[in-house]
Amino acid sequence: MRSRIPNEMRLAYGKNRLFPPPPRRLADSNRRTRLCRPLPNLSAKAPVGGMVSALPGTSEGVTAAAYLPERLSLPQLREAVQGCRGCDLYRNATQAVFGEGARHADVMLVGEQPGDKEDLAGRPFVGPAGRLLDQALEEAGIDRTQTYVTNAVKHFKWQARGKRRIHQKPSWSESVACRPWLEAELAVVEPRVVVCLGATAAQSLLGRDFRVTQHRGELLESPLAEHVVATVHPSSILRQQDEASRQAELAAFVDNLRVVAALL
Ligand code: SF4
Repeated sequence: MRSRIPNEMRLAYGKNRLFPPPPRRLADSNRRTRLCRPLPNLSAKAPVGGMVSALPGTSEGVTAAAYLPERLSLPQLREAVQGCRGCDLYRNATQAVFGEGARHADVMLVGEQPGDKEDLAGRPFVGPAGRLLDQALEEAGIDRTQTYVTNAVKHFKWQARGKRRIHQKPSWSESVACRPWLEAELAVVEPRVVVCLGATAAQSLLGRDFRVTQHRGELLESPLAEHVVATVHPSSILRQQDEASRQAELAAFVDNLRVVAALL
């Protein structure tokens, strides 16, 4: 498969690819769903030290692309993301929260954005949703230490309510602005399986029209990785009204992760 990245952009980003390699195996299941819309193309060249021109889907016309380090490695990306000004979310956040996990993890789990606890700790999935994710991974038989966890958006978006910081869903333009970091993580980690947790992650990677409700737990065909699966974000399980609903949603979530476990 030919890369979607123009040559001048490869130079701008150094020798590593921005996109993961093509799938290493062809579709092997009739449950696989072919997506009509591939990963949106990051088509703007990143000038050194400046903002890039508008990407499809952005209204502000700025992205994180200009803040990526020349050489893509997890330590350098983790350091560089703290200086990102690709959108306004850095203004009210404590710090950027980059992904973490195994350098060449088979499974990359992508959530929405850091929450209150993650913003303070500087690590992804360390709050209540993260604990539920850990539990679900264990029940599904996936070794958490062999995964890489990250978010589609790296800074915490929130609104004050009294002394509490209430989560706000990132806008589409913020999600698109932040995508270069996620693309860089995909390029470095090269996971075999990408799991999109919730609509923000799924739409950032699979297209704005993608609906988790329609494709939950399916094996999706995408240039992102050999296998792509979309499911709910664990925080949605925590928001269920009663214990019975929570248990039912958790069981469905574990079932989705078992689809992933079967691929490993
Ligand atoms: S949310 Fe993403 S694009 Fe916006 S400032 Fe933070 S790292 Fe940069």
